[in-house]
Amino acid sequence: MLGRMQDWPLLVPRLIDHAARAHGAREIVSETVEGGIHRCNWADIRDRSVRLAQALARLGVKESDRVATLAWNGYRHLEAWFGIAGLGAVVHTVNPRLFADQIAYIANHAEDQVLLLDLTFLPLVEQLAPKLSSVSHYVLMTDRAHMPVSSSIAGLLCYEELIASEDGDFAWASLDENAPAALCYTSGTTGNPKGVLYSHRSTMLHAWCACMADTLAIGSLSVILPVVPMYHANAWGIPYSAAMTGAKLVFTGPLFDAPTLHRLIIDEYVTMTAAVPTLWLAMLDFLENSGLGLGRLDTVVIGGAAAPRMMIDAFQRKYGIRVNHAWGMTETSPLGSIGTPHALANDQDPEARLDRQCKQGRSIFGVEMKITDENGGIMPHDGCAAGNLNIRGPWVVDTYFNSTTGSALDEEGWFDTGDIATIDALGFMQITDRAKDVIKSGGEWISSIALENEVLAHWAIAGAAVIGLPHPQWDERPLMLLIRKLGAEVAAEDILDFLEPRVARWWLPDEILFVDALPHTATGKINKRALREQYQGRNFA
Ligand code: ADP
Repeated sequence: MLGRMQDWPLLVPRLIDHAARAHGAREIVSETVEGGIHRCNWADIRDRSVRLAQALARLGVKESDRVATLAWNGYRHLEAWFGIAGLGAVVHTVNPRLFADQIAYIANHAEDQVLLLDLTFLPLVEQLAPKLSSVSHYVLMTDRAHMPVSSSIAGLLCYEELIASEDGDFAWASLDENAPAALCYTSGTTGNPKGVLYSHRSTMLHAWCACMADTLAIGSLSVILPVVPMYHANAWGIPYSAAMTGAKLVFTGPLFDAPTLHRLIIDEYVTMTAAVPTLWLAMLDFLENSGLGLGRLDTVVIGGAAAPRMMIDAFQRKYGIRVNHAWGMTETSPLGSIGTPHALANDQDPEARLDRQCKQGRSIFGVEMKITDENGGIMPHDGCAAGNLNIRGPWVVDTYFNSTTGSALDEEGWFDTGDIATIDALGFMQITDRAKDVIKSGGEWISSIALENEVLAHWAIAGAAVIGLPHPQWDERPLMLLIRKLGAEVAAEDILDFLEPRVARWWLPDEILFVDALPHTATGKINKRALREQYQGRNFA
């Protein structure tokens, strides 16, 4: 027997239809590549996304075809998301910060048919085009006035002209909710990038989950500035949840500097923003130097890499802004866990509360978690035992796109995240390291994340990375790389003195080096693989 309720497939275009109907006048504000701020609303986004779908259909795009975007966060990119998915095709968000060869690999692997690009990326795409084997149309996301006089790409199309030539008399595709809607590749820090193909259903369930009070609490009153790019795990799904609820969106276009973000936060009355920690280090520095506040901002979501304790503390104590520390992966759409308060967590003491917020949050309904030892045995959820983090749920990857190796899951349907974590009795999970970054010293593990967090609390330190280097006796020992704050004078011995009471003695780094900069990955995280390669000749013998 089956239930007797309506079969209403969970389809992404329903979101934009609802947005136009229920809160059509709610604003979408975008900094643009062409310069200046653009203002429109959800009704405009729907109208233009329908026309885009119509234009793409005319270009020959069919259901399940991949349409790639190389674009910043902005209104045209938002239209493209809904238009492409509404057509039944797949929006493939390409990360422009990847190496050119990786972009070509990804576009060919995905067999992208059409590429929509922002003006910024025209030189890159002109260079790449001869290597892109499947792309038959290139669309420059701008108006006629900004089209180049000439380009090596024959038949380069103008986005605004494409849209203007359609009448909008077009019906969204009728689809199965398990049809694909979006495609995003991991950034390949662990080998070749792998494609994660989100379905309409997984996207909708994830969007609903993000709106929950104990998750991102996105609602009609929210004004959200997602600094996290739309090409990085779907801007953490925020645009979908915003369409669902009528939140106002503020997009930064190509601008990521702290003064611009600050201006937008103040001028647009932003209430919530989301980004990786490196960006917030720059913002906190800017606030300290300028003496400015953060207007109506009340929540900062930090994820993608561990949020240092001093960062959480500074936002909350100095600026009265709540930090939601979140964990996720491209493979998890990406919300996996989030550090919202828990009624049973008795954290009256501010230090204990901060300790809990340094964890990567608790699992949310829809994501099951477990930790296992090297033989796959279940480890206790006692907040101490650290093991391989495995997860499962309706918005977690099953099989990588066009994979030759089959399912990414074990026999029981669990996905091994490659992260090492503890889980406490209330379900709060703490990443101690990525499996490949953990430092194996004398049969024990040293958490590079924990060491970095501790040292970042030092007044003179602006950036930190810890990697393991080979050691003849201990297997591996930590090397600590530090960036000093401008004008600060501090020596390695001072840092060791500072760390000594804070970490186990055998965790203290064998060497501390001061550097001017640290390499970052295409998703804004410290690139430890590059560091290991850079320092590979060095050892502590
Ligand atoms: P990439 O592999 O390109 O970095 P992802 O953005 O999918 O792409 O990265 C996911 C990984 O980022 C996780 O497996 C985890 O190691 C790390 N990560 C994400 N959020 C956090 C966090 N809050 N704290 C620590 N690590 C995190």
